[in-house]
Amino acid sequence: ATETAGAHAALHARHRAVLPDWLATYYAQPIELTHGEGRYVWDAEGNRYLDFFGGILTTMTAHALPEVAAAVAEQAGRLLHSSTLYLSSQAVELAERIARLSGIPDARVFFTTSGTEANDTALLLATSYRRSNQILALRNSYHGRSFSAIGITGNSAWSPTSLSPLQTLYVHGGVRTRGPYAHLSDAEFITACVADLEDVLGQAGGQVAALIAEPVQGVGGFTMPPDGLFAAFKQVLDRHGILWITDEVQTGWGRTGEHFWGWQAHGKAGPPDILTFAKGVGNGMSMGGVVARAEVMNCLTANSISTFGGSPVTAAAALANLGYLIEHDLQGNARRVGGLLKARLESVAAGLGVVREVRGRGLMLAVELVVPGTDQPSAQAAGLVLEAAREQGLLIGKGGRAGNVLRIAPPLSLSVAEAEEGAAALEAALKAAQTALESPQTTGTGGVTL
Ligand code: PMP
Repeated sequence: ATETAGAHAALHARHRAVLPDWLATYYAQPIELTHGEGRYVWDAEGNRYLDFFGGILTTMTAHALPEVAAAVAEQAGRLLHSSTLYLSSQAVELAERIARLSGIPDARVFFTTSGTEANDTALLLATSYRRSNQILALRNSYHGRSFSAIGITGNSAWSPTSLSPLQTLYVHGGVRTRGPYAHLSDAEFITACVADLEDVLGQAGGQVAALIAEPVQGVGGFTMPPDGLFAAFKQVLDRHGILWITDEVQTGWGRTGEHFWGWQAHGKAGPPDILTFAKGVGNGMSMGGVVARAEVMNCLTANSISTFGGSPVTAAAALANLGYLIEHDLQGNARRVGGLLKARLESVAAGLGVVREVRGRGLMLAVELVVPGTDQPSAQAAGLVLEAAREQGLLIGKGGRAGNVLRIAPPLSLSVAEAEEGAAALEAALKAAQTALESPQTTGTGGVTL
């Protein structure tokens, strides 16, 4: 054990010496994952964890899903090569399936290798189509890490520079549990957000290209806008000819249980003009993409090419993964198991002052933490719970503008027994964190170093 701990410490030191300082990792002693199966992963020291976060960190259905592993191995054994200069039956078949699933009429699909690149491409399409570099984005948003994507990321903790090729106008619609709109009903919130959108548009000089929004903000802490918000936005956007881009990188593929895509919760809004996806579609293989109606997708007049977009190997993985997801009705599973898990977490939270709110849908659930007995966001509590959950053999994520939100997004095949196991581990971790926060020693020193 001492030997593996020593090797792990040495790896961490080498990581720190050669990778950028700004590359975030979780935990005081970051985990090195070595293998996975189903909803579980193992680290280099032999510890097993139930994975309540990996569903969003790309393993949409299950770890090491045999169907996906076999599809990858089979394709890799035949041809490990990629370029859009050649046709690929896997890429064409996957594009046909995604075009049908997207709900967008006359849809065209372009594959990328990440969510950032998918959003970059969506911005390229929207700004070219509308001949404008003005973009509307939601406050508290996260859309990726490239030079243009950071320009539409309203969560300043994830946006290292304000320099951007875009002129971004931020509107309300993301966080509603705090701030000036906290006391409003759903209908009042929608009215207030529409008024804010109209106000911002009234001040914008010239035409605006698009509104980009995550239907449920991911890194922003699984904020839940009321159903119908985007339908109300769409009425305003349509009047100005502004495109609607839905970033489904976290909400896509049935994660919210009720719908295949997050935009579908907004009913009358109809399909977006542009949809982006990534993360889970390849179940761990780097795959993302953009869907748009042909008129928008084909507005680019110059040639283009992508070396790795829709490579035969990643497309084979995504086809196997999507097939499994639909055949096993994992969206329905997310709705059923997620519903049970949410109810269980709500009853845990009822007795704990450190929890302000349990929210979310399907297997996209959040637990917002505060300094016990107050309404003050506590990033320290989130850090303590993350470490304590690890001790309990449970991986979870965190997020939110103040870093005080726990994010729960397991692979969509989570069983009821596993949901129960995770809820019990999280209950123990929340109790440990609350006890630590309430002890004079912890609060007196300004907190435990994490
Ligand atoms: N959009 C959203 C909503 C995301 O959550 C993320 C990743 N956290 C991205 C875009 C960027 O995706 P990637 O990390 O694959 O570039």
